[in-house]
Amino acid sequence: MTMDELLRLRDKAGAQVSSLDDELQALFEASRASNADDEHDPEGTTIAFERAQLTAVLDAARRHLRDLDLAVHHFDEGTYGVCETCGNPIPDDRMTARPSARTCITCASTPRR
Ligand SMILES: [Zn+2]
Repeated sequence: MTMDELLRLRDKAGAQVSSLDDELQALFEASRASNADDEHDPEGTTIAFERAQLTAVLDAARRHLRDLDLAVHHFDEGTYGVCETCGNPIPDDRMTARPSARTCITCASTPRR
C-alpha cells in the first residue's frame, strides 16, 4: 500500500459518504412531502424503512472514512502497517484486504485484556 493508494481510497470513501448523504437528504424531503402518517400510509412505511437502511449504510461508510483518515495519519507517522497491540508488522495481504487494519490477525482475533 502506498500513500497515493491510501489517499485514493479515502477520496473514494469520502465521495461515497457525500453521495449517500445526498440520497438520505432526498429521502427526508420525500417523507416530508408525503403525508407522513407512517402507520397507515404504505408509502410512508417504505420510506421509513429505506431511511433506516440508508442511515445504517451511511454510518458504516462514515466509519470506513474515519478509519482511512486514521490510516493516512499513521502512514504519515510511519506506523502504518504496524500492529497497534503487539507492535509487529501486519502482513501485506491483510493490509491489502483491509487497508485500514490497525491490528494483525492474531491480535484482531484475540480479545483485548
Ligand atoms: Zn498484533
